[in-house]
Amino acid sequence: MRKSVKFPRETVPVSGACDLIVCGAGLSGCAAAWNAARRGLDVLLIEHYHKLGGVPVSGILGIISGLRLDSEITVDGLFLREMIRRLEAVGGSQPRDGGWAYRVDPEKLDLVLFRMLQEAGVRILLQTTLISARRERRDISYIVTASKQGLEAWEAPFFIDDTGDADLAYFAGCPVRYGRDTDGKVQSSSLTFKLAGIDMTKAPRKMTEATALWQKQPHMTPTNHTVITYLPGTNGEAAVNMTHILNCAPLTHEGQARIRKEGMEQALEIAEFFRKNLPGFQNCYVAQTAMQPGIRETRRIAGAYTLTEEDVIEGRDFDDEIARGGWGIDIHVPDRIHGETPMPHFCLQKSYGIPFRCLLPQGVDNLLIAGRPISATHDAFSSSRINGTCIAVGEICGLAAVLAKGKWKTREIDVKSLQAEAMSQQGIVHRKTI
Ligand SMILES: Cc1cc2nc3c(=O)[nH]c(=O)nc-3n(C[C@H](O)[C@H](O)[C@H](O)COP(=O)(O)OP(=O)(O)OC[C@H]3O[C@@H](n4cnc5c(N)ncnc54)[C@H](O)[C@@H]3O)c2cc1C
Repeated sequence: MRKSVKFPRETVPVSGACDLIVCGAGLSGCAAAWNAARRGLDVLLIEHYHKLGGVPVSGILGIISGLRLDSEITVDGLFLREMIRRLEAVGGSQPRDGGWAYRVDPEKLDLVLFRMLQEAGVRILLQTTLISARRERRDISYIVTASKQGLEAWEAPFFIDDTGDADLAYFAGCPVRYGRDTDGKVQSSSLTFKLAGIDMTKAPRKMTEATALWQKQPHMTPTNHTVITYLPGTNGEAAVNMTHILNCAPLTHEGQARIRKEGMEQALEIAEFFRKNLPGFQNCYVAQTAMQPGIRETRRIAGAYTLTEEDVIEGRDFDDEIARGGWGIDIHVPDRIHGETPMPHFCLQKSYGIPFRCLLPQGVDNLLIAGRPISATHDAFSSSRINGTCIAVGEICGLAAVLAKGKWKTREIDVKSLQAEAMSQQGIVHRKTI
């Protein structure tokens, strides 16, 4: 048995109470908190880092994908519209061909999110980490956070877990899954980074030739692709999503150290490749590696329904669908060079519905899960993890919390009303073509 020690302080001061606590301020958490607050709930948003926006911001990803699938609109909604409108106003976003994605400047996105949330009345706690939850029978009653103010408890009748790792569900004792069924391995992680000093008048628009060159030259970074996103409104900056840390264990101390160390080594190799081989990149340099490591996969809840690979590939619809996914099966194979394994279902024929049941963890009645840890198999998750889908599910969770007001039980939420409300705020619930 592991050695344990008892601390003298066993009680934690209660620092506040509100209607709804949202844990994690990635795009799904921001969408949930914003939607609930502008509809009148008193909302507390808790974030571990000192920035809002999660992977696209602290992870320097710079892109939001999964919004369109050919002629289908897969993701829409007031949060997305408002965020993009404000970003465009400050030169911080650009649509990509056909609007299936937006390039975004991480710095401007952070500020836009801050403004939107504060105007909606959300109370934001930064550098504050959820570390525990207290459960009374089937309800979470308090959560505990750690920050510069020490340990604090926060009370609410309803919670949304947007931590990306299902931390709240896990701390509350809900069953979770981890990795692929065969061996529990998770998708490879990528330490993304910002490349600066690019001469945009000479830089290629497409990376096709760069990829061909990369594949010809020996390299230690285990990927076959070059993936960069020019950041809008900047002076020659790009986000690079190429490093790959195989066989990673992102929830362990050793695993996190490996992602940082190997990620930084690979970033230098990649920057050197660009400098030597690409027009306009002769003076480029690694300006910043991401504060938030690019962890694609950790825990997923085992919810009331588990989305499957067949649901995704066949574009299945559900009576209780509350959002849509349009991204294909996109697995960065845990132990193989990225790009080496064919992905036959990377492009879907049609979108699929995401059932409300995928957001319901087992054993707890006042908790919803948004963002990447919704209930899905390893394969289905590789699609539903895309930013567009995470935003749509986050926004619906905020709405669901509003509908739950009073009874504060997820099972009492009328799904038909939820679907109708979602559509009234431009959310895409059922299949919709342009
Ligand atoms: C390397 C990489 C490349 C990707 N490429 C793309 C792409 O090209 N296009 C695309 O659309 N999507 C892409 N994705 C997927 C997408 O970015 C993520 O799946 C998505 O950001 C998940 O959103 P989220 O809100 O659930 O989680 P996150 O964005 O991870 O946000 C979770 C937030 O919760 C906070 N948090 C975590 N634990 C705690 C805690 N205990 N207490 C308090 N706060 C906590 C975190 O700090 C973070 O801010 C990529 C992901 C990765 C990692």
